[in-house]
Amino acid sequence: MNSVEIKERDQNHILGTYARNDLCIVKGKGATCYSPEGKKYIDFSSGIGVNSLGFSDDGWVKAITEQVQKIQHISNLFYTEPCGELAEVLVKRTGYPKVFFANSGAEANEGAIKTARKYSFLKYGKGRHEIITLVNSFHGRTLATITATGQDHYHQYFDPFVEGFLYANANDIEDMKSKISEKTCAVMIELVQGEGGVNTLDQEYVRELSQLCKEKDILLIVDEVQTGIGRTGKLFAFEHFGIQPDVVTMAKGLGSGLPIGGILFHSSCADVLKPGDHGTTFGGNPVVCAGGLEILSRLDENFLQAVTEKGEFMKAEILKMEGVSEVTGLGMMIGIMPSGKDAKAVVNRCLDLGLMALTAKDKIRLLPPLTITIEEIKEGLEKLKQALIG
Ligand SMILES: *Cc1c(COP(=O)(O)O)cnc(C)c1O
Repeated sequence: MNSVEIKERDQNHILGTYARNDLCIVKGKGATCYSPEGKKYIDFSSGIGVNSLGFSDDGWVKAITEQVQKIQHISNLFYTEPCGELAEVLVKRTGYPKVFFANSGAEANEGAIKTARKYSFLKYGKGRHEIITLVNSFHGRTLATITATGQDHYHQYFDPFVEGFLYANANDIEDMKSKISEKTCAVMIELVQGEGGVNTLDQEYVRELSQLCKEKDILLIVDEVQTGIGRTGKLFAFEHFGIQPDVVTMAKGLGSGLPIGGILFHSSCADVLKPGDHGTTFGGNPVVCAGGLEILSRLDENFLQAVTEKGEFMKAEILKMEGVSEVTGLGMMIGIMPSGKDAKAVVNRCLDLGLMALTAKDKIRLLPPLTITIEEIKEGLEKLKQALIG
């Protein structure tokens, strides 16, 4: 099938909830992929921060293939090896004692929200259930997580939303203090807001907030669905801020293309959820976890250092380009404010030129595969430069 046929069949049968690009991709390797007609693209998007090892990485393909030939699924009523091993690696590398595996970022956040509410219920009884999130945040698409998302346009049509969410302005500790009350059980934040525009929170704000939460026995949930698993040059972004959140959620990069979500629990709340309180049919799937193990085995100090260096190189090169007013983000999570141009129009021109990029609010957003080569980076940046001028 050619691109047009593939697209038409999709449009005939798939619910139209996505503003898709007019493009189909059939194969790829590393950060390079191809349309059915053989047009080549450099990938600065990694399937929205998912393909951390790029397309069809050899080690990852081997890991999941070997596992799928042994056993593909058995449910959480039994034990499998990869799931426990992946949890063990996460525990060893973070010092957090417990992990729960889900299938997506939204699900991981649901688990975090439930944990906070039960934690508070057990200690303080009913009524201390409010969760404060940040304006411009994004936490997912389920009813609870769109309610948690601090963007008004998500809060339409689906009333009634989940009770007990409040929104504070990012980097404004006084606004946060004014929202905290005897009803607050948790604060939930992204350290670099992804969908909200690649906004990195201030170091001092984050530390002060963490301290405030500790003093008031409010759980601090850090949503690392986009920032986690090496994206910012550390295994988790919270390491940049010198804090220890109570709950850390992850997803996107952890599976390198297969669906997985995860929750890390600090000892402060590792014993809150008990049998029957939470569960999932697919979570902790052995094939997906085998892929996750491959990723974590690759993310050593040298790899993370390379992520930092490649991110810095990209930012420095982008800052030299015409038509750029600001570059934001951490590691290989990069936001670009185009001067006097519409970000979506620039991203569309990038596609025409053979470069995949994303938008986040009024910025261009880049989330290249962490394994992208310097040659691929240079090739992609050349296209970006042209797209920004055009
Ligand atoms: C993508 C994202 C989510 C939602 O993840 P899904 O896997 O789409 O449910 C939640 N939080 C953040 C920060 C994200 O970037």
